[in-house]
Amino acid sequence: MGESHDKCEESLHLVYHYLDGELTDEKRVLIQQHIDDCPPCFEAFDFEAELRIVVKRRCHDEAPADLRRRIAEALHHEKLHPPVDPEYGPGSNSLL
Ligand SMILES: [Zn+2]
Repeated sequence: MGESHDKCEESLHLVYHYLDGELTDEKRVLIQQHIDDCPPCFEAFDFEAELRIVVKRRCHDEAPADLRRRIAEALHHEKLHPPVDPEYGPGSNSLL
């Protein structure tokens, strides 16, 4: 109660490494504790974990419809908040 969520962003960044198996056991425990205690992070973690599994299996199976929808929503969000400025003209195929 009253705990700030400043650690959320940090945790979500670490989750990517967690999923890649790049974290120490100590860090993994810290993340797991935060996730257990923080529903938004748990959801994000769960989503990322599912996504990784689907990507790994992509050659064999189609993503479940529900997960595809969640991925589409995430991609839609990316479109609304693009990480880089798309200053390229439409139809321009110039390299560099
Ligand atoms: Zn959190």
